[in-house]
Amino acid sequence: MKRLLCFAPLLLAFCGPLASAQNADWHREFPGFKIAGNLYYVGTADLAVYLIKTSKGNILINSDFPQDVPLIRNSIHQLGSDYRDTKIILISHAHDDHAAAVGQIQRETGARVMVMEPDAAWVQSTASGHPGARVDRLLHDGDVVELGGAKLTARLTAGHTPGCTTWTMQVQEGTRKLNAVIIGSPNVNPGYVLVGNTDYPRIAQDYESSFALLLNLPVDLFLGAHGSYFGLKGKYERMKLGGPNPFIDPAGYKTYVTERRDAFRGEWERQKMHPGSPAP
Ligand SMILES: [Zn+2]
Repeated sequence: MKRLLCFAPLLLAFCGPLASAQNADWHREFPGFKIAGNLYYVGTADLAVYLIKTSKGNILINSDFPQDVPLIRNSIHQLGSDYRDTKIILISHAHDDHAAAVGQIQRETGARVMVMEPDAAWVQSTASGHPGARVDRLLHDGDVVELGGAKLTARLTAGHTPGCTTWTMQVQEGTRKLNAVIIGSPNVNPGYVLVGNTDYPRIAQDYESSFALLLNLPVDLFLGAHGSYFGLKGKYERMKLGGPNPFIDPAGYKTYVTERRDAFRGEWERQKMHPGSPAP
């Protein structure tokens, strides 16, 4: 199967400057910890991986790169679960920093992989050198992934990739039900073409629809594909001090999504004025 994203202007961002866009936190160790209820953080200092514990095994959202898998495995063990009990793997979107090791984790655990349909070809491909995964279920907007009482809803928030997925779930924390939102990505990467993109003609409309959707979701726990979206490091430090859970941050969510929407619109307007000039 043709690798979905490795051609054309859109692709500068995926195959080119991705390396230069990475920061030191991508592969930096970070402690695994409980966010709330059965929802845990098991990623690096910036590449977020979420563990959802259930009575029938665990769900993992994102794999990061193969080099990050030992850290993910350790965090899962430190939190009292078995890596081999991973039953389902989901992703935020089909880019290496979130999904390059999906095939590896699938082979090591036997987990089923479920991906939003437009991102599935990338996940199955071995073209970029990472192990392709077998996609067991194609997802569409609103589909629910269930395991052992946990229910996650896949929301299509396309633009960043055509199958970019925001995951939502309700987490029971004490007597309170919290709405968790894990943003897929609201960002326009360097090299992205928003006007006259022949590989992804709907890209700008998709971003607009995604921002409208994100701004209408009920949110308590503000989370995302990168720790930098929601201030992972600072909130983790605050959490250690006790008091209210700092990841409960609906105001921070709204500010972040609105700021990203305005940044997208600014770039879209710029490209309308200068067609053929991709995002810097
Ligand atoms: Zn990305």
